[in-house]
Amino acid sequence: MDYKELANLIFPEVKDISYYEERYPERELKEGAIVTRFAPSPTGFVHIGGLYQSLIARKLTEQTEGVFFLRIEDTDQKREVENGITGIVNALKDFRIIPDEGMISESEEKGKYGPYKQSLRKDIYQAYAKYLIEQGKAYPCFCTPEEVEAIRAKQEVAKIRPGYYGVWAKCRNHTVEEMAERIKKGESYIIRFKSPGREDRKIKHHDLIKGNVDFPENDQDIVIIKADGLPTYHFAHAIDDHLMRTTHVIRGDEWLSSVPLHLQLFHELGWKAPKYAHIAPIMKNDNGNKRKLSKRKDVEAAVSYYEEEGIPEEAVKEYLLNIANSSFENWRRANSDKSMDEFELQLNKMSVSGALFDMVKLLDVGKTVISRMTAEKVYEEAYKWAKKHDKELVNMLEDKEYALKIFGIERGNKKPRKDISKWSEVKENIEYMYDNKFYESEEGYPYQVINNREDIKKILTLYLEKYYEDSFDKQTWFENIKELAGEMGYAKEVKEFKANPQQYKAHVGDVSTVLRVALTARTNTPDMYEIMQILGKDRMSKRFEKAMK
Ligand code: GLU
Repeated sequence: MDYKELANLIFPEVKDISYYEERYPERELKEGAIVTRFAPSPTGFVHIGGLYQSLIARKLTEQTEGVFFLRIEDTDQKREVENGITGIVNALKDFRIIPDEGMISESEEKGKYGPYKQSLRKDIYQAYAKYLIEQGKAYPCFCTPEEVEAIRAKQEVAKIRPGYYGVWAKCRNHTVEEMAERIKKGESYIIRFKSPGREDRKIKHHDLIKGNVDFPENDQDIVIIKADGLPTYHFAHAIDDHLMRTTHVIRGDEWLSSVPLHLQLFHELGWKAPKYAHIAPIMKNDNGNKRKLSKRKDVEAAVSYYEEEGIPEEAVKEYLLNIANSSFENWRRANSDKSMDEFELQLNKMSVSGALFDMVKLLDVGKTVISRMTAEKVYEEAYKWAKKHDKELVNMLEDKEYALKIFGIERGNKKPRKDISKWSEVKENIEYMYDNKFYESEEGYPYQVINNREDIKKILTLYLEKYYEDSFDKQTWFENIKELAGEMGYAKEVKEFKANPQQYKAHVGDVSTVLRVALTARTNTPDMYEIMQILGKDRMSKRFEKAMK
């Protein structure tokens, strides 16, 4: 009996690997094109870190005219969730990150390098496991889980490095005959890789993000095919990324320590390994402690959170680019009207340790992103969000023409107003422009410097009688408020007031505040002239009447 016969006994049906090598040829892409992937388990949940990874992958492949694909890693069938793939596909779609190849729904895919779902690739993995067995580079292991656990316990007591390696790897030294005999007897087994490594030797790895890292060689005889016939992550990674002709593996840095094993697998299979880029996780400041954003503890760890809150997809992506390359911020400042797609992302400029996630900053990016939108776009996005999340806002937006006027205030000019950071803020932001909401509100009137009844009443009455017409242009409108201030004995100019503070009780700005508060019940609103123009004199005088009561 030799290895070949043993391999045949274990995997009698599988194809020769030459079949797969031909079926998945080298890709014909231009020099320097990056082929990479997002490879989640189908748990339905997409962590913000997964989106971050996908964004980086998508961007790099766009920059180099490469290929980005979505591979579903479902070899751990315990972790599966119903419609888990759809959840991932849709999450990426929400952020307009569209892979070139891979799964597009629960069971459909596109692209020539599939199947893109690992559970459908069982025969492929087995063909390569057979190939390794034929060369004596893999072997059946008959140890039961209890035996493996007993080995681990012994190692722990003796304070020895844990694992299935060297003298501890009981099954690696069985003769081929013995292996064959036990298989024929019906004993159950798994397939292990026979590692040629030695722990006392070092390997050098150059990571595209982490830089040069030295590791001891791998010497663990890891499981490559489990009892259910499916591969482990490590084996599937090597096979898939080889056959899918991946050039760059961009993944979370929890996998960095597996690099020695992965390089060894590629080497023993006779292949060139891909380049690796290990991304540091997104961190959170938790009462002074820096820790990973956690699915369990942090709502913002789930990408669904951003959709629910109505944080624009573009803002999230811009913010993630900020985290990815700190040079993005300067680029954005210098290129405020360009699309972020034009920014050149560089892997070697990514931070080696985890960046802190800063919600305040993200919302700030949200404000800028929304400020750059046209009123029409703001309307569409707010409406789309409202339809999913806020009936009342839908009603408010029904009168599109009116809503467009509101969203048009201080928009489209060189310094657009930055007052909305997310769609869930829109209602609160525009509420006072709707009479039903305005009159039912119990909010008081936060008058400031000028706050006595008589003066307020006088300002409002005079304003309507003498100083306001809908037909005024902005300049006239502005001059009229000054005139009103003058007539009331307030300073017509702030400068004048500051020069002679004893001479005046208040100034034109304080008069404006009275008008603003009476009109909106707020001290802070966008341009008052535009608000008055939209509301018109009739609605304005009704509001003033209420304010005077
Ligand atoms: N399924 C692995 C994970 O979700 C993929 C890691 C990789 O990108 O290779 O962590």
